[in-house]
Amino acid sequence: MPTTPRWKLPAACFAALLAGALLGWLAGGHVATGVALVAVAEIVLLLTRDRHPARPIMASTVAAKHNRLMTRSRRLASSLRDLRRTASQLPDGVVLLDADQRVRWFNHAAENLLGLRSPHDRGAPLGQRLPASELVDWLHQDEREPLHDTVAPGRPDSQISVSLLPFGRRQQVLLARDTSHVTRLEQMRRDFVANVSHELRTPLTVIHGYLELIDPEDAPALAPVLGEMRAQSKRMGQIVEDLLTLSRLETQHRVEDERVPMAPLLATLRKEAEALSQGRHRVAVEADAGLDLLGSPKDLHSALSNLVSNAVRYTPAGGSITIRWRRSDDGATYSVSDTGYGIPASHLARLTERFYRVSSSRSRGSGGTGLGLSIVKHVLNLHQARLSIASEPGRGSTFACHFGPERLLAPSNGHDES
Ligand code: ADP
Repeated sequence: MPTTPRWKLPAACFAALLAGALLGWLAGGHVATGVALVAVAEIVLLLTRDRHPARPIMASTVAAKHNRLMTRSRRLASSLRDLRRTASQLPDGVVLLDADQRVRWFNHAAENLLGLRSPHDRGAPLGQRLPASELVDWLHQDEREPLHDTVAPGRPDSQISVSLLPFGRRQQVLLARDTSHVTRLEQMRRDFVANVSHELRTPLTVIHGYLELIDPEDAPALAPVLGEMRAQSKRMGQIVEDLLTLSRLETQHRVEDERVPMAPLLATLRKEAEALSQGRHRVAVEADAGLDLLGSPKDLHSALSNLVSNAVRYTPAGGSITIRWRRSDDGATYSVSDTGYGIPASHLARLTERFYRVSSSRSRGSGGTGLGLSIVKHVLNLHQARLSIASEPGRGSTFACHFGPERLLAPSNGHDES
């Protein structure tokens, strides 16, 4: 059989280079592509036609490359299996969704918590595979915050928190975490606080009642002590009442909606401020919203008056307090501004926590329970409203409650509060 002369391979490569360059140039400048194509074609022809000495070298190179690729693909497959095994054992439910929220993959926990079944539910839109629920409504929203403590479709006695994270190209990962134990602990804490407060209420009422019965004139030497005991028992009573209010607000998911006429409420708030101030502050009301609120009259009164009493208690004599009720771009805002002590910025984020105080002595001295702003926050949450606080130490503070349009009503009898 004729063998290929040794000069033939380099010559073929050179010819391929030339032909490729020409082809590439003709094809619009892709010289490298042309060269590569022709060179490969030439070499393949040469090697398959002849027993060229380069053939075994080429063959072993190709075999080595093939082996390397096979090893790499085996390693990748094994890593992928490990990854899937790990993800399928995660305690949190994981569902991989495509751009149309169709289920691509899910783990055991997702089967358990969401009630998904494999392979039946693969490829189906997730929203259609779950029973109608808060979770399904949430999935259909365009923009969503994580959904907390909702009923798990696969285990109705459990609660889950769910979030959606962007993943890859327009895909998403849904994470579902069982929060039942946290909810149970929270419930135990709430029950404990409510029970203790309830148990303390009766003895405190009795003590307070007896203290009221004692006439200081019967024991003039004890008069200052008696005064202090009365003040402290009153404060303890107030703490108990505030704790009970908080327990109720925490367990409540919605309020009974009623019209809350703002004109008389603002007049009452002004009177309360003046009574508490006893002439030490200027109190003004600016109300041009011409709107009533929709919600719980008792709870709204309690929240709005808390802000007024704080303004009076944390503003030195001679300062001023302004209560405003105004329309805003997206609803209406009730605010209380004072020219009082103000609050350093580092405290603002924590003010609505229970018993959080900027200055304990000032709070206690002014008769505070440390629970007022916590109550305000809960009441506003129940009315889908939010609290904002602006303050400057030494200059004063503004506490504002922002109500959305769904909570606003035109006054029924035509009067407005301006
Ligand atoms: P408290 O019963 O102690 O007033 P709150 O929950 O009502 O409890 O308020 C928490 C803390 O926030 C207060 O202790 C006080 O330090 C601060 N605070 C609230 N309102 C004002 C205000 N208008 N000016 C300055 N500080 C305030």
